[in-house]
Amino acid sequence: MTYTAATLREVTARRRFAETHYPTRTPLDLLTVSNPKVAKGAAELGYLPAVLHLAPHTLSGANLCPWASRECAAGCLNTSGRGGIALDASGLNAIQAARVRRSAMMIIEPDAFAAQLVAEVQRHARTAARHGLRPCIRLNGTSDVAWHRTFPQVIAATLETGARLYDYTKRPVPDAAAAGIDLTYSYPGGEGKAARRYLESGYRCAVVFDTPRGAPLPDEWHAPWGNAYPVIDGDAHDLRFTDPAGVIVGLRAKGRLRGALASRFGFVQSSLQV
Ligand code: SF4
Repeated sequence: MTYTAATLREVTARRRFAETHYPTRTPLDLLTVSNPKVAKGAAELGYLPAVLHLAPHTLSGANLCPWASRECAAGCLNTSGRGGIALDASGLNAIQAARVRRSAMMIIEPDAFAAQLVAEVQRHARTAARHGLRPCIRLNGTSDVAWHRTFPQVIAATLETGARLYDYTKRPVPDAAAAGIDLTYSYPGGEGKAARRYLESGYRCAVVFDTPRGAPLPDEWHAPWGNAYPVIDGDAHDLRFTDPAGVIVGLRAKGRLRGALASRFGFVQSSLQV
């Protein structure tokens, strides 16, 4: 991936800001590894997940979500949970600052970034094995990077460990699947041309509903193009690659999206599907 000089300057400036305002004594880890005692649902399915959280959309100074809609960028899950607590005027807290620093490392020092990421993936695989589990990894926890194009060596090294790779994406074509990444298309609102393409090719499609926490999701999603698709509960666990093909992965609105107005062609869909 090549970046303009202006983008590199901006990324460097934001990294410096993050380092200055949120200094840490510990080295920057790239992967966030689940604790098998906490991620019980995943452990019951035989997996230990790890996620790479980068700074979404343009938060790092470079756009890591080139297909984001205005609504999804505004309501990104990046700020759900601890990621959204006590944000400063720049939209940062310690968690967001770490995401900016990881993104900057990826952009400015790609070789060092790739080497560290591969080392952490291998360590994760050993940890999973110690627990009698299989590793699984989401590289786009809060980004939409085309890893198969920008860091194919990371994809190859990850698959070599036996880890499952899976991601949500808004990329209009499922080309990353050929590289061994399990894909779930993430509906950003609109007419849904890409969503239809993915579903008709047997992929899943994630849709955010205004369903409150704990309440049941609708049984079906009535897509903008007129077809209806069965909805499964995507909040039960995150291991999308264990889901059936061609279904809607229903997600309840969280973080800044909680309470957002649902609309027919919006990022948040109504739980009253008629
Ligand atoms: S594409 Fe995904 S990660 Fe990027 S801004 Fe939208 S919801 Fe967030």
